[in-house]
Amino acid sequence: MSQKPEKLIDKKGLRLDGRKPGELRSIQMEVGILSNADGSAYIQHGKNKILAGVYGPRELHPKHLALPDRTVLRCRYHMAPFSVQERKSPAPSRRDIELSKVITESLEPSIFLEYYPRTGIDVFVEVLQADGGTRCASITAASLALADAGIPMRDLVAACAAGKIDDTVVLDLMDTEDKIGEADVPVAFMPNLNAITLLQMDGILTLEEIEKALNLALKGCGKIYTLQKEALKAKYASVKEITE
Ligand code: UDP
Repeated sequence: MSQKPEKLIDKKGLRLDGRKPGELRSIQMEVGILSNADGSAYIQHGKNKILAGVYGPRELHPKHLALPDRTVLRCRYHMAPFSVQERKSPAPSRRDIELSKVITESLEPSIFLEYYPRTGIDVFVEVLQADGGTRCASITAASLALADAGIPMRDLVAACAAGKIDDTVVLDLMDTEDKIGEADVPVAFMPNLNAITLLQMDGILTLEEIEKALNLALKGCGKIYTLQKEALKAKYASVKEITE
């Protein structure tokens, strides 16, 4: 195990991985990578590596869960046993169950659920490698996978966290910053509709710091949104290249 660093921000104002306080980690996304799913996406957000697969709208099982006026969105967040340094049990943990709920509720407002009554949409999120901020990266990837499945949506949902480390409000905390830092504020946002779909806080912040962290996270979401749209366009651009 690596030793706990004394300071998370050095004299030059840079973080452990060399980022400035308001900087995102490097992010890459790709859609349509699982041929058996109706829609899929893969995201590398810093050292996080996450896959999302969407199935549906399809007949819902067990049938008694079906609703007469809308589809039921079910998201399952799961961390692979090899995704963290200490082996994670493959059985769903309390945290996996909480994050499944949080991800579902962050995505629901973006989907026209009423278009598909009596059906279900399943979203499977597999965290292959985790380094802090997996709930946000999972929301970003799951929203992309829903779009890739052609499900009618009001907007894409982009997510990232801000927080506080060494008394400074920073964007996009990695694992060490999340664990040693003072606070973490994950945010999910639909930029085109200007609507927040997730706002959580772990730690203690003053009212001013919350406002600063929220604004920083929203800016981060805006940048992630641009990358999401580019990833969707890239799929169709590559199809065009092959057929030309
Ligand atoms: N983590 C871990 N083992 C676990 C759960 C989490 O090592 O069983 C690490 C992982 O790197 C994760 C980080 O702790 O990304 C922060 O977890 P948190 O619950 O804050 O959720 P996240 O920040 O990933 O959304």
